[in-house]
Amino acid sequence: MKAAIIGAGMAGLTVASILRAAGYEATVFDKSKGTGGRLSSRSYGSGWIDHGAPYFSANLPYLTDFLSENLPAGKLQHWQGLISGQLRSDEQLQAVGVPRNSAITRGLLGDQPFQPSTRIARIEPGAEGWQLYNDGDSLLGHWPLVIVAVPAPQALMLLKDQQRFAEQIRGVRMEPAWVAAISAGERRYRLPEVAVFQHPVIRRIVDNSAKPQRGNDNVYLVQAQKDWSQQHLEDPPEQVGQQLLHSFRALAGHSDDDRLLFVHRWRYAFTEKPLGHPFLWDKQLKLGVCGDWCLGRRVEDAWQSGADLAVRILAQLDREI
Ligand SMILES: Cc1cc2nc3c(=O)[nH]c(=O)nc-3n(C[C@H](O)[C@H](O)[C@H](O)COP(=O)(O)OP(=O)(O)OC[C@H]3O[C@@H](n4cnc5c(N)ncnc54)[C@H](O)[C@@H]3O)c2cc1C
Repeated sequence: MKAAIIGAGMAGLTVASILRAAGYEATVFDKSKGTGGRLSSRSYGSGWIDHGAPYFSANLPYLTDFLSENLPAGKLQHWQGLISGQLRSDEQLQAVGVPRNSAITRGLLGDQPFQPSTRIARIEPGAEGWQLYNDGDSLLGHWPLVIVAVPAPQALMLLKDQQRFAEQIRGVRMEPAWVAAISAGERRYRLPEVAVFQHPVIRRIVDNSAKPQRGNDNVYLVQAQKDWSQQHLEDPPEQVGQQLLHSFRALAGHSDDDRLLFVHRWRYAFTEKPLGHPFLWDKQLKLGVCGDWCLGRRVEDAWQSGADLAVRILAQLDREI
């Protein structure tokens, strides 16, 4: 059976990988240029900067087995940096992708058809299955099975006509986070690899260069506090970047050659109030929805949601094929 998967983050690519193993032909769409979603990485110099989740925990049964079975060797590595401050449950360290976090989602995609830079603006039921339209309102094709694996507010835009799903998704709340990548030049700060703060502006600083094979020296990823990010959500990125650089210097120390590399706004960074079910699924419509926000706010939640949905699809649809 053919399937369209909207969203090439951990949840969408977990579904894609399980369906492919069962013989489905999945086409994956993402509005971004590559895979990863909130587990994305950007190239910088001769290496990479992870500007979404800097690392993740992998305590769930079957998660590490799944990743080691489905990823090329060496793409997942245990990482345990030095920590200062009290980490929340969604900030626990354990694993990173190598040489970048998005190597994990890229590895899960494998050779499956992928349409990057394609924002799905509309999905509609048609005589031959679900019709997907891009944001230029061009019809991209028909698929009997569609999986929506995007953050809750973006899922709601696609599913507003599916009353049963829309009602439930409306109860989910997500929160933003601004992040900035800062190069410290020649200087190494006396910061541990992961530092969390009770600071009005900065929540976490992660030493990107301490992770395996990032290829850059002295690059730090600074994550702003939730409330600060919310208050400055619509501010110009350059202004936000300068404020984050200023606060970084206050916490880490000033250096003449430190500089802001880029700033990124994650409008839907973390789940504030989850759905409370691992996924949404309608067997008659052949329409499924998954994502971290179904269960929580971690990469592990995204994986669990995608894996549970894929297992349900196989259990129900395979009997019909
Ligand atoms: C700054 C930051 C720090 C974090 N730190 C941690 C951490 O330390 N530990 C941890 O476990 N988790 C952390 N997280 C959370 C973690 O990244 C997420 O829980 C997880 O990556 C979500 O995966 P997902 O597949 O559910 O969604 P996403 O990764 O958001 O994937 C959804 C994809 O859908 C695409 N998309 C959206 N709308 C459309 C559309 N209309 N058409 C096509 N494509 C679309 C998006 O481009 C995206 O690629 C962090 C997140 C951020 C932003």
